[in-house]
Amino acid sequence: MTPIPPHKRRALGKNFPRLRSDHSGSCLWMGLACLLWMSTTAWAVVPTVPAFDLVGLVAGDEQPQKNVEAVMRGAHGQTRTAVRMKIPAAAGYPVKVPENAILQFGISASALVFAVESPELSQPVTARIWFDDESGSEVIYQRRIKLKDRSEDRTWFDEKVDLGKLAGRSGTLRFETSSEVVEEAEISVVYWSTPRITQTRASLDSPNLLFITIDCLRADHVGAYGYPHPTTPTIDGLSEKGIRFAHAYANAPMTLPSIPQIFTSQLFPSRDEPLLTAPFSDAGIPSAAFINNAWIPLWLSQGAHADPPGTFDRIISGALTADNITDQALAWLSDHEQHRFALYLHFLDAHTPYRPPARWRDVFVDKNYRGPVGDTFKDDKGAAAGKYNAADQKKIIALYDAGIRYIDSQIDRLLQELKSKKIFDDTLIVISADHGEELWDHGSFFHGQSLYEELLHIPLIVKLPGGAESGRVVERTVQGIDLAPSILDWMNLPSPDQFQGEKLGRTLDQTPRDFIATATQAQFPTRYAIRRGHTKIVESLNAAEVEGYDLEADPREANATLPEGTTTAELMRDLRQARSILRERGFQMQVTGADNREIEIEMSSAPVSATFLTLDRRGEKGVLQLSPDGRRLQIRGPATGFGLRFDRLKDSNNLGNRDLVAFSDRNAAGKNTPLRISLGASGKRSDAATVDLNSADLESPSEPPCDKPERGIHLCLWHYPGEKVSALPEIKDPALRERLRALGYIQ
Ligand SMILES: [Zn+2]
Repeated sequence: MTPIPPHKRRALGKNFPRLRSDHSGSCLWMGLACLLWMSTTAWAVVPTVPAFDLVGLVAGDEQPQKNVEAVMRGAHGQTRTAVRMKIPAAAGYPVKVPENAILQFGISASALVFAVESPELSQPVTARIWFDDESGSEVIYQRRIKLKDRSEDRTWFDEKVDLGKLAGRSGTLRFETSSEVVEEAEISVVYWSTPRITQTRASLDSPNLLFITIDCLRADHVGAYGYPHPTTPTIDGLSEKGIRFAHAYANAPMTLPSIPQIFTSQLFPSRDEPLLTAPFSDAGIPSAAFINNAWIPLWLSQGAHADPPGTFDRIISGALTADNITDQALAWLSDHEQHRFALYLHFLDAHTPYRPPARWRDVFVDKNYRGPVGDTFKDDKGAAAGKYNAADQKKIIALYDAGIRYIDSQIDRLLQELKSKKIFDDTLIVISADHGEELWDHGSFFHGQSLYEELLHIPLIVKLPGGAESGRVVERTVQGIDLAPSILDWMNLPSPDQFQGEKLGRTLDQTPRDFIATATQAQFPTRYAIRRGHTKIVESLNAAEVEGYDLEADPREANATLPEGTTTAELMRDLRQARSILRERGFQMQVTGADNREIEIEMSSAPVSATFLTLDRRGEKGVLQLSPDGRRLQIRGPATGFGLRFDRLKDSNNLGNRDLVAFSDRNAAGKNTPLRISLGASGKRSDAATVDLNSADLESPSEPPCDKPERGIHLCLWHYPGEKVSALPEIKDPALRERLRALGYIQ
C-alpha cells in the first residue's frame, strides 16, 4: 500500500480509533476473541465523527487485508476516493451502530487490462456487506455487477443502507467481493466509494461549505465592485448578506498555480502538501467537487493527493457548462443535505471560448454591431495580437460579460435550493475567482501574461453562517492563500500546520500586509510582484526589468515609476526572500554557437527524471517546443547565445536516482559540429551528452562563464541557486493535453 504522508497519518490517528494491534491479527476471522478484544480495547477510544468510515480505516490500517487498498481513482467518468478490492477480497472493521444510522456509499466495478477499460472481458462479480456479531452474520447489502452483459452496470451506484434495526449493536461491518470464475474475474476490481455512517448535521457552529471559484472573473466586472452592467445580481445580493473583500488578490494570473495556491495555502505549491480538503476527510464530512477546467482535477488527484483519504470524496470534471455543474451539484446535494457537507464548484463559462446562452448574450451585446465577431469568440491569439478594433473589442467584452451573467444565474439556482432546503443559514458560502482577464488594459488579451491588476484583482464574497458580519466591506488586502485557512476556521475545523495564509477570522483583522504574486509557466515570461500599501513592484526575469506603480495615483498602472528612496531596494529584497524557497531544484543552461546559424538543441529526460513542463525562459528569446509527454524539449535560438531554466518536480516520481537528461544537436546530422557540455562552476566537461542531474559537478554558486566555441555548440549546465516552480503536473493523456492546448495553456 502507498505510505500515508505524515500529516495524514497524524490526522487519522486523531480521529480514527486504532482497532487492531499487531498481536490481534485480523479481527474479522478471530470471532469471539476478537469481540472481547474490541470490547475491552477498541471502545476505550470513542470515535467522534464519523461513526464508521471505511476509507479512513483501511488507509490507517497497518495490516491491510490482501487485495484491499484505499485509493483515489477514476472509473466511469468520475474520480472518487474509495476502497478498491480485487476479486475475491474482504475487509471488516468494528462498529457500534448508532441510532437512526444510515450507511451511505457508492459502488462500481471496473475491469482494466493494461490500464484500458475492458468490460467485455470481465466476469460477473458479487459485492456484499455483512454485519457480524456474536449472534451470527447477516448480509445487509448485496449487488451483482455484470459489466460484460449489462451496459447499465458500467456506472457508479450510490446507495443508502438503513441500519435502524442494528441500532445499539456492536459488531463488524465486513465488505466482501466474490465471483464464481475466479481466474478470469481477476481483472475486475470493485470500488467502494467512501462508505460511512455520518451523524453530523450542519449548524451555525459546524456549517456546510459551498465554495465557488469562477475562472477568469476580474473584480471590476462584478456589480458589487462597481461594474455598471448587470453581470452579477446574485453575487451582489449575496455580498449584502455577507462580507465583501474589496482588495482580494489571486497569487498568480492563471489557473495553475492559482488554484493549487488556494488549496494548499502555499505561494509555491507542491503536490506533496496537504489541501483544504484534508480536514473534511478526517472529520468524515461528505465532499464533492464539480469542475470545468482540466488542470484542477489533475492537480487535486495526482501525487500525494491521490493517497487516501483523498482530496474530495468525488471529483466530477469535464467540459461542463454552468448548467451541467449546477444540475449535478444539486443532485449531489439532495443526497447529502441531511449531513454536514463540503461542496466545491469551478465554473469556466467566463473563459474563452466565449459562447454564452442566447438569453444572456442578448442582454449585453449591441444589436447594431456589424463586424467580424459573431455570437461566440475563441480567437485568443488574434485578440492578443491587436486584430480587433474598438467596436469588435466591445462585442468581445459583451460576450465575456454574458458568460459571467450566465454563471451568476446558476449560482442563483444553488442559493435558492439552499434556502428551500432550509440550510442556507447553516452554510458558509465563499465565492471568488482563480484570476482575472486582460481585456486590452495593457494592450493584450487573455491571462497569464502579466501581473497587472486586471489579472490579479478578483472578487471575494463570504457569507458566514447565520449571516454574521452582514454587509461588511473589508478594505485590507487579502490573497488566495488566505482562503483555505479562513474557510476551515469559519467551519471550526483545524488547519494543517503547513498552511502559509492567514485566517481572515471573525474579527476580520485590518492590519496592512504585503501581497506577493508569481507568474511562471512554460509559455509565459517569469514575473514576480510584491505590493506594499499602494506601492507595487513587478520584476520580469525574462526581460531583466523591474517596474513600479503607485496604485493610488495610477490605479490602471499606466505609468511605470519606481518609488524613490530605498523602497525599491527593500521591496526587491523582500520579494527575493519570499521566493527563496524556489532555490532547491532549479537548473539553468546557457547555449552559444560558433557560427551565425540558429542553434537547435533537443533535451530529453529519462522516464523517472525531469519533466520540462516547468521550464522558464531567460536571456534572449528562443523558440521552445515541448513534446506531448512533457519529456522532450526542442529549443531554437540565436548563435549569439540564449539561456533557459527548468526544474525537477518535488514529486518523488521525478526524483529518482537516475535523474538523466540527454542533449543533442538537431543540426548535427552529417556535420562535424561537436556539442560540448560544461558542468557547474568548474566547467568540467561531460564525457557524454547525457547528464545526471544529481551530479555534484553541477553545483555553482553563480552563473559560470560559457565561452563561445570555435566550432559547434557550447552548452553550459548548472544547478543554480536561482528560482524554480513546481506547480505543473505531468500530463500523460494525449486527449487531455489537447484540451489544455485548446484552452491556450500549453503550446
Ligand atoms: Zn483559470
